[in-house]
Amino acid sequence: MSPFEHGEVFVLDDGGEVDLDLGNYERFLDIKLTRDNNITTGKIYQAVLDKERRGDYLGKTVQVVPHITDAIQEWIERVAMIPVDGQPGPADVCVIELGGTIGDIESMPFTEALGQFSYRVGAGNFCLIHVSLVPVLSVVGEQKTKPTQHSVRGLRSLGLTPNILACRSTLALEENVKKKLSQFCHVPAENIITLYDVSNIWHLPLLLRDQKAHEAILGALNLHGIARDPNLKEWTSRAELCDMLLEPVRIAIVGKYTGLSDSYLSLLKALLHASVSLRKKLVVDWIPASDLEDETAKENPDVYKAAWKLLKGSDGVLVPGGFGDRGVEGKILAAKYARENRIPFLGICLGMQIAVIEFARSILGLQDANSTEFDPDTKNPCVIFMPEGSKTHLGGTMRLGSRRTYFQVMDCKSAKLYGNRGFIDERHRHRYEVNPDMVSRLEDAGISFTGKDETGQRMEIVELPNHPYYIGAQFHPEFKSRPGKPSALFLGLVAAACGQLDSLSHAHKIPNGMAKKVSLYQNGNATKFAKIPADGIYSSCNGVHA
Ligand code: GLN
Repeated sequence: MSPFEHGEVFVLDDGGEVDLDLGNYERFLDIKLTRDNNITTGKIYQAVLDKERRGDYLGKTVQVVPHITDAIQEWIERVAMIPVDGQPGPADVCVIELGGTIGDIESMPFTEALGQFSYRVGAGNFCLIHVSLVPVLSVVGEQKTKPTQHSVRGLRSLGLTPNILACRSTLALEENVKKKLSQFCHVPAENIITLYDVSNIWHLPLLLRDQKAHEAILGALNLHGIARDPNLKEWTSRAELCDMLLEPVRIAIVGKYTGLSDSYLSLLKALLHASVSLRKKLVVDWIPASDLEDETAKENPDVYKAAWKLLKGSDGVLVPGGFGDRGVEGKILAAKYARENRIPFLGICLGMQIAVIEFARSILGLQDANSTEFDPDTKNPCVIFMPEGSKTHLGGTMRLGSRRTYFQVMDCKSAKLYGNRGFIDERHRHRYEVNPDMVSRLEDAGISFTGKDETGQRMEIVELPNHPYYIGAQFHPEFKSRPGKPSALFLGLVAAACGQLDSLSHAHKIPNGMAKKVSLYQNGNATKFAKIPADGIYSSCNGVHA
């Protein structure tokens, strides 16, 4: 999947590389999913083809209906039994998101499979929530129900009857519009939920509760006697807090896919979780890495100047993960700037490798220090291809998923931020690593590898002990950040960016994300409301989050 078109690739504990929607489910429900929680057409066809090769269908014609549709239903029923909340035993309800739009060629077998499934399991065991758009004509402000009427008709023709309509719109649906939808779509008015624009995304659970969406779902699934009342205290206070934040913290993200903020969705969420817990309003400055390069200074001096102005105006710099050599030199310049000017810096995956390359070039004087990913012939390869990966088959050869990092130095910043634990488990997605043969030379020059894997040969965390906050991690801590439990290294970056790292570290044992226990700067002017973009992230970028 291209991050340009699809947004980020989300990585799960078991190494599954999946759609970013799974990240939203993990964050909202605070659960851990597996690669099998992501069904794709490819996986289903693969399963059917494997069965066919094994001879399971001997003598039969293999077709979309029933073989593909059966495989989809079997997959769903199997995965529904896997616990995801850390409790033993399967959950009461399995949420299936059928992506795409009714009528899409790609999702046809899935829609058909769910039609068969709902018929088979019967009423009381299946609740269909149809999400549709209710556009508002800007001139007259009229809310149009036609698209929903059409898509419900499409659903019915495929044997699916919606129990609930979830209508996405800019404003709350008017009563007469609900009535019309109810009449035309044969859905009771109380089961028509309006999902209008809210000041930040954490209001959504409250919006659903206020409209009794949970009652409608419990009714459809016959769970009224079993379910408890929703406890949304934490969500309420977080949603309200996010609306009240005024004091900005500016973080520059120096990356590659800066045109589509979904390419860095988990990163943005992790920054947001950290900022909100520190009572700061997050402002993200997107800086395309190549704009910082000398080449741009020659070809497009205005763009070059603007990029550097943005970088210099930031309180903290983040260089995210990435592949391919575009913008690498710009990222190295950003890391150098942060190191030399004592600006808080966090490098993730490629960002960590960049920090090491920059250090080798500037401090060890190795002008051609590089990663063999970008310069296979460099005489000073400080980042190299991991021996176990295959160079000829790039698909499926990465070091993926949850791996353990052991802290090497107890009083380093990262160990403190992680609550002085001996080790941590974080998610990985890389093919290259810091060259173990260069580690002692680098360390002699003042950089410290504070986290390593179980062999002690693979560098996981790098720090500059004499810098206010300069950390690189080979893993992606953003994938495990949660609204109430911000990821340690992001918390450190944002705290350092607003001069609060000391108050965090002095509190010593900070369990991951328990920032609330630490005495933090409180916003004195909590009664004023700021205008907040849809997901609470402010951005200087052309309108992505404006
Ligand atoms: N391209 C680098 C590697 O494969 C970094 C990967 C990443 O940032 N996710 O090691």
